[in-house]
Amino acid sequence: LRREAYGLRFEEGRTGDGQRIEVAANLGNTAHAADAVENGAEGVGLLRTEFLFMAHPDVPDLQTQVAEYSRAFEALDGRPLVARTLDVGGDKPLPYWPVPAEDNPFLGLRGIRLALTRPEVLETQLRALLIAAGARPLRIMFPMVKDIDEYRQARAIVDRLQAEIGAGDVQVGVMIEIPSAALLAPSLAAEVDFFSIGTNDLTQYTLAIDRGHAELSSQADGLHPAVLRLIQMTVEAAHAHGRWVGICGELGSDPAAIPVLVGLGVDELSVSVRQVPMVKAHLRGITQETAKRHATTALSQPTSQAVRDALEAL
Ligand code: PEP
Ligand code: MG
Repeated sequence: LRREAYGLRFEEGRTGDGQRIEVAANLGNTAHAADAVENGAEGVGLLRTEFLFMAHPDVPDLQTQVAEYSRAFEALDGRPLVARTLDVGGDKPLPYWPVPAEDNPFLGLRGIRLALTRPEVLETQLRALLIAAGARPLRIMFPMVKDIDEYRQARAIVDRLQAEIGAGDVQVGVMIEIPSAALLAPSLAAEVDFFSIGTNDLTQYTLAIDRGHAELSSQADGLHPAVLRLIQMTVEAAHAHGRWVGICGELGSDPAAIPVLVGLGVDELSVSVRQVPMVKAHLRGITQETAKRHATTALSQPTSQAVRDALEAL
């Protein structure tokens, strides 16, 4: 099955009955963009730009960032790139950007909150992305957004830069990885171009389980019905406004979750490079009808174990 999946890796992501689901790759380094294409990725659904900031002793300058992002765009050869702006703080400290000691770093200065404390750093990154993209499809995504205020502040920088540099083929969206953002998806959907659901953090914050906890992290299961309901709300709000929704957390490559996510209506799955062929193979094996059944079954269960058992029994 592995070999067959690999042989069909350049086919478009589709269910067996033809519903289009884009399959993209998550990258932690632009050097892997060519490998993603070679594995059949239809784009990059999450570029974790932290690597670039971690690899330098200080904030990388404009030219350095332009060169890095350009490398990804060149390898992608016209495929879209979803670049997440700098997502540090919490579990991802940046040595040259110290954050005052916090009792709860996961609930502290991190993601877009931290980035907005030094808007000039965010602005340089956004400028580099826009310059590197030129006319190529760039999707900018802000991490750890809790409500529309943070989005508007960050978006205003993009709008200002676009007025200066030119518009290009750019969409601006947010990650849905804090429960408040999922609950408020209708208000966000009115203003963003897309959502990408970060199920790793969304699960952590919904279940109050540290995703890296030595004993508890196995219980941080994204197939929990509470997480699935938040995904459902997010997709419904997005589609009501004609926006697309991706999944960029690990749940997107969980074979038990794929039919559920398709049944909930997600439009894109972004997974690690090596998983792209397998995810496409799983999609070919389901239909919209079976996917709906999986979603309905999962949503009606009380625990993640019950979800997994019920899906297994279908
Ligand atoms: C997530 O939170 O699901 C996600 C994709 O982002 P990261 O794993 O980088 O926090
Ligand atoms: Mg995250």
